[in-house]
Amino acid sequence: MKNCLFCGLLIEDNAKKCHHCLSFQKVGEKRGEKCDIANLIVHYIGIITVVFSILLGIFGFLGFKSFSDLQNRSEKVLERTNSKIDVFEKELVKLTADFSANNKALNGILISQLHDRYHNILDRIVIDNVETIGPLISELKHINKEAQKARTSGSDRVNHLIFNR
Ligand SMILES: [Zn+2]
Repeated sequence: MKNCLFCGLLIEDNAKKCHHCLSFQKVGEKRGEKCDIANLIVHYIGIITVVFSILLGIFGFLGFKSFSDLQNRSEKVLERTNSKIDVFEKELVKLTADFSANNKALNGILISQLHDRYHNILDRIVIDNVETIGPLISELKHINKEAQKARTSGSDRVNHLIFNR
């Protein structure tokens, strides 16, 4: 037995190559390939695999976490926006309903006033008085027109109540 020229471990006396470090037993020969990076990787492949797995796991987890955080956040923003839109929509629907109700009421009041004026004029009309009958009839015609306008833009139900009382 002799010692390897390179790694110093025991090898056969007639060995031309060390089976530990794979170096040829000749002076001036380069040390064997066993200690290069490839061999290190092969030697430590288990540890490297474990470390890589852990790193991949950590980065994967962090990546997933930040991704799901982002997703959660955008979902929350979307939810808030949607709920805001919902609120706006409800407000708009309410405003529209209020407005049309007010509009109907306004039309109703207008028609009611026109109706009262019409009746007042009718009560004042004396067929014999030629001086006053002309302007009163033209005012009645005017009221009729206004009532027609109010009636077409107002609620049929309200108008029905006013005109059929
Ligand atoms: Zn050796």
